[in-house]
Amino acid sequence: MSDIINFASNLIRNTFSKKATANNSLKDIFKFNGGVHPAEHKAESTTHPISKLMMPEKLILPLRQHVGHMPKVKVQVGDYVLKGQMLAEPEGSVSAAIHAPTSGTITAISEQVIPHPSGLPDMCINLVPDNKDQWTALQPVDWRNTDKKTLVDALRASGIVGLGGATFPTHIKLRSNGKSNVHTLVINAAECEPYITCDDMLMRERADEILKGIEIVQSLLGAEKCIVGIEDNKPVAAGIMTKALAASSTIAVKIVPTLYPSGDARRLIHLLLGTEIPNDKRSTDVGIQVFNVATVLAIYRYFEFGEPSISRIVTMTGNVAVPQNFEVLFGTPLHALVAAAGGAKTNTTHFIMGGPMMGFDLPNDLVPITKAANCIIAATPDLFAAPPPAMPCIRCARCADACPVNLQPQELYWFAKSDNFEKARDYNLFDCIECGCCTYVCPSDIPLVQYYRYAKSEIIAVDKAKEAADLARERNDFRLARIEREKLERAQKHAERAQATKSEVKSAEIKPVDDVKEVIAESIKNEEAPASTDKQAAIAAAIARAKAQKLAAANTSDISAEKVTVLPTAPETKTPETKITEAKTPETEAAELKAKLAKQALIAAAIERAKAQKLAAAQAGDAPKNIENVSATVQAEINATDALREKAKLAVEAQVSKSKESD
Ligand code: SF4
Ligand code: SF4
Repeated sequence: MSDIINFASNLIRNTFSKKATANNSLKDIFKFNGGVHPAEHKAESTTHPISKLMMPEKLILPLRQHVGHMPKVKVQVGDYVLKGQMLAEPEGSVSAAIHAPTSGTITAISEQVIPHPSGLPDMCINLVPDNKDQWTALQPVDWRNTDKKTLVDALRASGIVGLGGATFPTHIKLRSNGKSNVHTLVINAAECEPYITCDDMLMRERADEILKGIEIVQSLLGAEKCIVGIEDNKPVAAGIMTKALAASSTIAVKIVPTLYPSGDARRLIHLLLGTEIPNDKRSTDVGIQVFNVATVLAIYRYFEFGEPSISRIVTMTGNVAVPQNFEVLFGTPLHALVAAAGGAKTNTTHFIMGGPMMGFDLPNDLVPITKAANCIIAATPDLFAAPPPAMPCIRCARCADACPVNLQPQELYWFAKSDNFEKARDYNLFDCIECGCCTYVCPSDIPLVQYYRYAKSEIIAVDKAKEAADLARERNDFRLARIEREKLERAQKHAERAQATKSEVKSAEIKPVDDVKEVIAESIKNEEAPASTDKQAAIAAAIARAKAQKLAAANTSDISAEKVTVLPTAPETKTPETKITEAKTPETEAAELKAKLAKQALIAAAIERAKAQKLAAAQAGDAPKNIENVSATVQAEINATDALREKAKLAVEAQVSKSKESD
């Protein structure tokens, strides 16, 4: 039976291949190096049209269903949401939104096991459907009359990611400013991995919608032409697509030979256009952009109907009763999908997500279907026999012949095995697309791809640690620089403040001097007034003294008024006491002067009497009575006293004559 199916399939393939190639304006195919052709196992799941699933009891929506940042949750447990409502919004440039696949209630936001090679849990939103499947208000986008930037922004909210399995957010492929240097759009419909038929069935059933999606993307990119690459093992889909696109002058279908991994974007570009993209460049650098066929259909439905990304076509195949394709709401538990396919047969050992070449084993059938789930294979030992123990590498180089990236897989294996990661990096380990061709052909059954994944993860971990260390060092350097800068700034401020203070002090020092000058001037001014006042007082005092002299002369008969002239007072220091004295009343001062003059007159009279006695004694030849019979010492003292008296007499006389002259 299978032989008949294969024969019919090959017959149709050859017929359509020739027809499609003949219809293409692009006739040449540019074969890439390497590649393998494993058993296809595609026919099993293409016998039934795409089916819809019954609404599951619970949807589990992982937040991380795409490449990039985890989106930000916008709902809370207990919220009622409508179908198409955004549950998590994209955060950062590389991120994708998550929408409610149906109406219902949010029952949990927690970590749960997700379909990932690591088998580790991640954040998920649980939604229990209310079975009303009620849409939120949808907003279609008039893409023909809307500027490209707005369209790209709208696409960011759509939640659409690459549905070929890469899950790269689609809006990233379109320049946010709407500008583009892309001249050729390549639609990837090769679907090269065995077992997977979701794109095949999509093209068979929804070619018209795909065409409209291609027109939108072509318009967004400004691409002049579009090539749809389909492997020749999908003759029905190729025929339908060729017919649907026949009216378009810019879109063409090109049939490529069935050879794994022709669905890899770079391999497909090489096949269709003969363009080799350098490893360090992107396809857009040479004006080519690649979209998966299912992705352009999702873009069409979003712009035309406002439907965000809430479901996808999934191939449920392998060891199930009825292998076929289903349109599955994201978050649907795997067991619901398996049940829809008639259930897994008893000898099923596990489930594989993706194809047998690049897929991975799922931990259980509770994990949800996500945006990356293009195929689920129920595995049995018959279909996927456990690999025999690895044997030593025999250096046969078959792996190198099969490698589509022209690497040296055997060398990479040795470097990875010996943890010589830098050497593996030097041998372009990161150019490896993990296609598995080398493992597929290795006669020693060495799990080569696992070694490469291990080496990559180790290098990435080391790089991340180094990056973190560099970042920490940079931060520390920056911190030290900041501290130093602040220190300098503080020092500068202090210096400026000190300079300012110094200047202030200087001006302050100058000012006091001025003040002092002012004070002195004021003082002088003030002094002048007292001086004149003093002068007046002195005059008044002189007048008072003259009056007193006259009065003393009148009152003292034995004292000549002329002899009792008051000695002029020496310039006096203006002490407060002096001022107080000067402030005495003229009457008081006259009385004091009178007493003083009287005393002086008495002294002068006594002196005169002594002189007269001495003179009389000398004339009589008698010595004064009181100097008779004295000793030599006493006589010397008497003589000295006399000399002093004489001296005093002369001084008084001189003073008197001086006073007379001045009067
Ligand atoms: S195919 Fe296997 S045995 Fe042969 S060279 Fe490569 S790794 Fe070694
Ligand atoms: S897995 Fe890597 S090394 Fe192996 S064939 Fe593919 S690209 Fe080459």
